[in-house]
Parts: sequence; C-alpha cells; structure tokens
Amino acid sequence: MSGQISTTGPMLASPRCGAKTRAGGACRAPAVRGKRRCRMHGGAKGSGAPRANRNARKHGLFTGDAIAERKQVRALLGEARQLLKGMRFRP
Ligand SMILES: [Zn+2]
Repeated sequence: MSGQISTTGPMLASPRCGAKTRAGGACRAPAVRGKRRCRMHGGAKGSGAPRANRNARKHGLFTGDAIAERKQVRALLGEARQLLKGMRFRP
C-alpha cells in the first residue's frame, strides 16, 4: 500500500519534456535534472551549447571583458567632459 502511492507523487510533479513529437503532442517524458528537455530531446549529457555559447561567438564585441572596457571608457569620457565643463570661461 505504501510503495506506489508514496513514490508516484514526486515523479508526477517533476518537470516534463515539452518537445513536440511526431504525433503532434508534447513528449512528457521526465526532463533531465537542471534542463528542460528529456534525455532523448536534447537533455543528454554533453548536448547543447557550451556555457556562454562560445560556438556563437563571431567577433567578441559582446564578451564581458569588452563590455566592461567600454563602460570604463564611457565613465572616463564623462569625467573628462565634466572637467571641461567646469573649466569653461564665464565672464
Ligand atoms: Zn522528450
């Protein structure tokens, strides 16, 4: 009496794969832990893009380092503009 009823609840509550099947519906197999798809629909170990998707990188314009560098340059320019504003001649 205890076995099945106590273990089916958490199983049914687990996140499900939402991949579209050839029959047209959703897959509904349990999703791999930490992923949104089951092991057969892209959730398998080693599948998917690497962290920070290095595969999609074309030029590095939007890497964290590049963004931080631009932010620093903008801050420096802002400071320089403020300084120049303060030096402006007023009769
Ligand atoms: Zn699936």
